[in-house]
Amino acid sequence: MNLQNKNNSKLKAGIFGISGCSGCLLSILFEDTFKKINDLLEIKSFPLIKEDKYKGDFDIVFIEGTVVFDDDIIFLDEIRKRSKIVAALGACSCFGGVPSIKNFKDDEKTMRFVYPKHNHLKSEKPTPINLHIKVDYYLPQCPPNKEEIVSFVNHLASGTQFKNCQDPVCMECRKKGNACLLEEGELCLGPVSNGGCSALCPSNGVGCYGCRGPSKDANMNAYTANLKKRGYNKKSIKDKMETFAGLSFEEEMEKDSKWLGK
Ligand code: SF4
Ligand code: SF4
Ligand code: SF4
Repeated sequence: MNLQNKNNSKLKAGIFGISGCSGCLLSILFEDTFKKINDLLEIKSFPLIKEDKYKGDFDIVFIEGTVVFDDDIIFLDEIRKRSKIVAALGACSCFGGVPSIKNFKDDEKTMRFVYPKHNHLKSEKPTPINLHIKVDYYLPQCPPNKEEIVSFVNHLASGTQFKNCQDPVCMECRKKGNACLLEEGELCLGPVSNGGCSALCPSNGVGCYGCRGPSKDANMNAYTANLKKRGYNKKSIKDKMETFAGLSFEEEMEKDSKWLGK
C-alpha cells in the first residue's frame, strides 16, 4: 500500500499496547530504533511515553500485546477505524504469545493463580489481534527484531513492498555455521519455525521456541517423526510449541493427521 501524500510529509504513526509486558514498545524506544523511525514517521501517539491527546487518524499504527480482556477488543475496533495500516508488533500480537498458553490450561485455575487482581474484568480467550481486526503487517518475535522494525518503516516510507523472512530458522542457523542443538540433545523448533532472527537462540546455545511462528512450509510430520526417534514424546514437543505461538502451531498440527495420531 502506498501511503505517500502529495506534500511528502511524514506518515502519521501511533504506537500502542493492549495486554502485554511493554517489551515490544521498549524495543522501539531503544535509542537507535527510535531515532531511525522518528526520522521517517511523525509519531502522534505513544502512550507509554506521553499522554495521548491526539484524536485524529493515522497512516500506520503498531500494536503490541494479546487480546485478553474485552477492553482490548473495544480498543482494537476503535484504533482500526482510525488507521490506514495496522502492524502487529511482537509474538503476543502476532500469535497470542505467552498469554495464549492459557488456552491450553485450566481456565478457572489460571484466573485464580495468574490474574487474581483482574477477576473483575471479563476474561477473553487469549488470542492474536488478527482474530479481531484486519492486520496488514506482522513484525513477530519476542521481543521484536529492531532491524526488522526499521526495515519495515523504511519500506513504508519509501512506498516499497515489505516482506518477512520466509525461511525456517534452520537456514539461518546453518549459514552461521552453528553446531545443531538437536544433535546435542536439545529440543529445537528451528526446522518448523519462521526465521528472520538470525537464529538468535540456537546461536546462543538455546533451542528455538518458535517466537516467530510456524514457517510457511513447515513439515510437521517429518519433524515430529524425527523428534520421536530421538526420544521426545508428544507432550514435550507440544509444551515447547505452546510457549509463544501455540495457537498457530496447533493449526499446523490440525492439518497433519499422522502427527495427531488420528
Ligand atoms: S511479544 Fe514478548 S516483549 Fe512483546 S509484549 Fe509479548 S511478551 Fe512482551
Ligand atoms: S540448532 Fe535448531 S535451528 Fe540450528 S540447525 Fe539445529 S534444529 Fe535447526
Ligand atoms: S531462534 Fe526461535 S525463539 Fe529464538 S528468536 Fe528466533 S524464532 Fe524466536
